[in-house]
Amino acid sequence: MRARRRLLVANWKMSRTPSAAAALARALVAIPRPAQLDLAIAPSFPALDRVGAALAGTGITLAAQDVYVEKEGAFTGEVSASMLKDAGVALVLVGHSERRLFRGEREPDFARKMERLVEQGLAPVYCVGETRAERDAGRTADVLRSQLAALDGFSAPPSGLILAYEPVWAIGTGLPATPAMAAEVHARLRAELAARFGTGVAGSTRILYGGSVSPVSAPGLFAEEEVDGGLVGNASLVASDVAALLAAAAAPTTGAARA
Ligand code: PEP
Repeated sequence: MRARRRLLVANWKMSRTPSAAAALARALVAIPRPAQLDLAIAPSFPALDRVGAALAGTGITLAAQDVYVEKEGAFTGEVSASMLKDAGVALVLVGHSERRLFRGEREPDFARKMERLVEQGLAPVYCVGETRAERDAGRTADVLRSQLAALDGFSAPPSGLILAYEPVWAIGTGLPATPAMAAEVHARLRAELAARFGTGVAGSTRILYGGSVSPVSAPGLFAEEEVDGGLVGNASLVASDVAALLAAAAAPTTGAARA
């Protein structure tokens, strides 16, 4: 029996209108889901309401792709944690590499976002990952450690914290990390969590892999004991692919964790 429930998070980015997102959500609801798996869907903000209605009573979690650093006020265009909570959201992505790259957001921003989520009882999916240049320079461990500095201000982990290891070079490229690479980094992240919050927290925190998870790559990745599921972009937009990912995530792992 696995120590942690597996979770797939569908990140739909800026790729579906509210009506198309609702139709896709209904298609995903219709897929038989193994009882031991969790599924969450993160549509764009304008689609939250309609996707939330499609997910009502299904056990599938409504997630959001971002949250603003402030609680409330004159911040045109931004969305607060309390708004997300009121919309029925339970999980929120923080630190996605596209926010780092296109919006210049950094660890102090992510720390504030996670504080806002904690205030509202929402769980963060905190995303970390190195670029190709950083990996090639042998800096992966240092980069991940510096990204985890967003947790420095927390004496206990944000409630429901989930980590997502998303190597930037694997996102949307069709070139996922190998299962061994993912398992190695996840084990390192778990050790960092243990150093910060203790082994109990480290052992119970889910660490997802993200970056070109597909029906082809998922069986190998999800065979790893260290990989507690996936944060999935492109493949999560195709119902038959999601069905394949759920099946892969439900399969038993290869056994003992890698050393
Ligand atoms: C992502 O953007 O979080 C992601 C993992 O995308 P993709 O699955 O398309 O690589």
